Amino acid sequence: MPLSERKLIERIRRSAKRGSADQVASVVTGVGDDAAVLRIPARHEILVTTDFSIEKVHFRREWHTPELVGWRCLTRGLSDIAAMGGEPRAAFLSLAVARDVPQKWVNGFMKGLLNLAAKFNVPLAGGDTAQSAAGIQADVVVIGSVPKGKAVLRSGAKPGDSIYVTGSLGAPAAILANFSKSKRANRSSADLLRQLRPMPRIAAGLWLRQREIPSAMIDLSDGLSTDLNHICEESQVGAELEAQAIPRSQIERNKVSREKEPVALKLALHGGDDYELLFTSAAQVPPKVAGVRVTRIGRITKARGMRLLQDGSARRLQPGGWEHFRKND
Ligand SMILES: [Mg+2]
Repeated sequence: MPLSERKLIERIRRSAKRGSADQVASVVTGVGDDAAVLRIPARHEILVTTDFSIEKVHFRREWHTPELVGWRCLTRGLSDIAAMGGEPRAAFLSLAVARDVPQKWVNGFMKGLLNLAAKFNVPLAGGDTAQSAAGIQADVVVIGSVPKGKAVLRSGAKPGDSIYVTGSLGAPAAILANFSKSKRANRSSADLLRQLRPMPRIAAGLWLRQREIPSAMIDLSDGLSTDLNHICEESQVGAELEAQAIPRSQIERNKVSREKEPVALKLALHGGDDYELLFTSAAQVPPKVAGVRVTRIGRITKARGMRLLQDGSARRLQPGGWEHFRKND
């Protein structure tokens, strides 16, 4: 075991103490007892989300720095809370690492995760560690809360609602697509990847929910086409996307000139790991919400299925999102 359970618990205990007074108040008893005791605000309901991050499925040690893996691991959970319009209260980490994983890797992972936790004042209120047979598996549980009856669901989209997305899409997928057999290309892709720090849209989700703007909301983890399809299925509606309107991330074309170009449309449509919010609304939405750009990209239709409008014609759009790494990679 590279990091003894006692040592990890010490780190978790220290980090739990570092949260803001308000957030730490949500943890009545954390690490050191058999279970954490949490207190949530009166007339709130509890949100619970759990996400695996598995080596060779969600990340690769040769591509992703340990800091990014730790950061992204918690991003997945916080982003789910954001999509419900909630506020995070506490996080829990279960981490299994093989005997050959260096201590340095685990330290980097914890650093990335705790940096993001500190940004959102989320105490890490407990966890577990184990030795895995091979590789690294991390599971993060995030507990959040939302006023009773106010959680934003996937099932509320209505025909005629506009479809909106925060931020821009496709950068993580575009960078991963650049990894190849060439060592040099891989070094510059790894550099680009290191600069990515997906930011869960907690403030934007909260702002929108408090004004009752979204009729349905989801976070983009599997890719726009897949996640929009989840809204369509849960709401029993269809959707029409305008290809031109989809905000594509700009990434560096080459390292020397630092020139940037937009990612390919298909990466913005089907790539994953964006952690932006996708929501539907009948209301007018300002172009910027809680400091984040918001773009109208289409509308909800009564006719089922998804369509992509491009150059004056409409094509059937299938959910073709991220399937993590291909089997034979
Ligand atoms: Mg989600």
